[in-house]
Amino acid sequence: MLVIEPYIRELVPDLIIVSAGFDAAEGDLLGGMRLSPACYGFMTATIMRLCPRVVLALEGGYNVSVTAECAAECVAVLLGGKPRAMSGRGAARPAKEVGPVLTAAAAAHAPTCPALATMTKPSTWDAYCLALQTRRSLSVRGRNAIVDTLVPLPLANMAPLHSLLWFRKGLRLHDNPSLLRAIEGAERLHAVFCLDPWFIRPEAVGVNRLSFLLESLADLHSSLQARGSALLVLRGKPEEELPRVWQEWGVTRLCFEVDTEEYARTRDLRVCELAAQAGVDVSTCVSHTLYNVEQVAARNGGSPPLTYKAFEAVLAKLGPPPLPVADPPARLPPGVAGSEVIGYGVPTLAELGYPLQATTVFKGGESVALARLADQLSDKGWVAAFEKPKGDPSAFIKPATTVLSPHLKFGTLSCRLFYARLQQILLEKKQHTKPPVSLVGQLFWREFFYCAAALTPNFHRMEGSPICRQIPWDDNEEFYRAWDEARTGYPWIDAIMMQLRTQGWMHHLARHCVACFLTRGDLYVSWERGRDTFDRLLIDGDPSINSANWLWLSASAFFHQFHRVYSPITFGKKYDPHGKYIRHFLPVLKDMPDKYIYEPWTAPPAVQAAAKCIVGTDYPRPIVDHAAVSRANMVRMKDAYAAGRVASAKAVIAGAKRAPVGGAAGGPALKRAR
Ligand code: FAD
Repeated sequence: MLVIEPYIRELVPDLIIVSAGFDAAEGDLLGGMRLSPACYGFMTATIMRLCPRVVLALEGGYNVSVTAECAAECVAVLLGGKPRAMSGRGAARPAKEVGPVLTAAAAAHAPTCPALATMTKPSTWDAYCLALQTRRSLSVRGRNAIVDTLVPLPLANMAPLHSLLWFRKGLRLHDNPSLLRAIEGAERLHAVFCLDPWFIRPEAVGVNRLSFLLESLADLHSSLQARGSALLVLRGKPEEELPRVWQEWGVTRLCFEVDTEEYARTRDLRVCELAAQAGVDVSTCVSHTLYNVEQVAARNGGSPPLTYKAFEAVLAKLGPPPLPVADPPARLPPGVAGSEVIGYGVPTLAELGYPLQATTVFKGGESVALARLADQLSDKGWVAAFEKPKGDPSAFIKPATTVLSPHLKFGTLSCRLFYARLQQILLEKKQHTKPPVSLVGQLFWREFFYCAAALTPNFHRMEGSPICRQIPWDDNEEFYRAWDEARTGYPWIDAIMMQLRTQGWMHHLARHCVACFLTRGDLYVSWERGRDTFDRLLIDGDPSINSANWLWLSASAFFHQFHRVYSPITFGKKYDPHGKYIRHFLPVLKDMPDKYIYEPWTAPPAVQAAAKCIVGTDYPRPIVDHAAVSRANMVRMKDAYAAGRVASAKAVIAGAKRAPVGGAAGGPALKRAR
């Protein structure tokens, strides 16, 4: 095996690093040959035994700088940390130098790893080294022949493959590379989802999102059943439940999709450590985002791009994202059977301690997601003309945008499939909008924010964040509560908050309005509080995207034109002069005349009485005077900007220093939204 410690040590000094001749991210060996997943699994197992904390990869040992990047990505994913800058380290290394190093390293490690002893047998390693050395002169067919000789020998020494496919997001069968990897060479497939008590709490996840999740699990279970498999729902902490079942079911390989969220990284690192201790191979795939976020950062000089423009420049270097992978076969390997599956069904809301039923009109599940995608994209003219922020935020019967966000959040829809379908349409339509305003542009916003969130320290809080403006927000509990409970006295704001409470989804511009109102616009309450409310109540509540947009709207990061404030009175009126949206979500105002529907406190007492809505009794008076507070808040924002700028210098990462906060590219909507 090739030891590339000198390179990796520079990146992650406290780790023992061993790497093997394959590219874990792509499953590709020796450029052009597909590495059999069985062989991949074997190599991963070997490495994990040698080095329980880390799985590494290299691209055929051919180009060490690529190798170092790839390895560092794996390290970052597993450790939840961020590798230091990695591009350009190490020159390309000729294959002929690599073979001997590989063999020597394998021999050196063989005594501590019985599995490796097999791999040091001349037949295997000669073939491998030969392949390395003759890489260029071999036809693809010839190369594949060599891989074929590599696979059987190690496999003969392996226990039968029992895969555990751990669903978290990615609740789908289409475009699911982890599923494909899990079934390769597997005798058994156990598909599980773990109801982690960390999430399953009414104060953390509202009933609408949990219901959406349970519907998605039920749908996934049906699709798996149709292929002779099943979804088993575990209840408890993944760190406890997974080791229990992999021991009970004789699991030898664990497969899951990479999740870059803060909590997920820590959890996954712990699970990987436990798997290594138990001798269970771990295999992960990137499929929740269009690109591997680490690769995006690597192409940006080691730090995440912090403007959309810089992000687009990186995408231009990376080329189009990978295509969706093939659907799984019609029959999947069997898992546990009979009485063993009892107690692993999809629970009801009540079983999980949720007394209320869901009220959202949006349903979860891959089948619903695919049908919605087909429906939304059936009008190709609409797709080609899609332009955000144009679109009516008050349209609630037929929303102005796709409402695919909850499906993208839970992965009941693959973003790569969405992207590929959009590309097909755009090829047909010569005239179409472009990023950042097009639908492809919306997917790029998602990607951009995922990347920034995954690789910026303290992204989800003001304190310690290198990109967040330090603003002394007011600690006004009454203001926050009034906003959260839809009783600010501004019907446009309260109606949006009621849509959030009842449906768990609102149009992007509606989100803008309430986020601006809570923070710099009117109430001067911290974006973190509003973010938490959204996180609890949105069906698409997604930590990276949610925090990123709150940072934007509060002019804390990415966007800093704090003098542009949404009016809680005139903004909605432009789209919905009769106030249909307000009447629907705030029935107490349903009989208020059009003239007063956005400002009921200005209605004469007789009009209020006729409308059966006395302001101050049936509906609250405005909590603040928008005109006065928004002016005062602009001054406060100006002062805060002048005083603080960003977090303590210590926390400022090199990348964030280079890339100025606030983009020239404009925001997701605000530029033209006023
Ligand atoms: P479409 O316009 O149809 O866009 C398609 C997809 O692109 C969306 O489903 C979404 O995945 C992505 N997308 C669109 N806009 C954005 C954006 N600004 N940032 C990142 N991705 C985007 N979106 C979430 O998915 N989860 C959240 O928790 C979330 N919180 C938000 C909080 C605030 C304060 C604001 C202003 C926006 C938030 N958004 C969030 C972004 C955006 O409002 C929603 O993604 C969008 O409204 C979802 O509706 P759609 O699927 O019809 O979007």
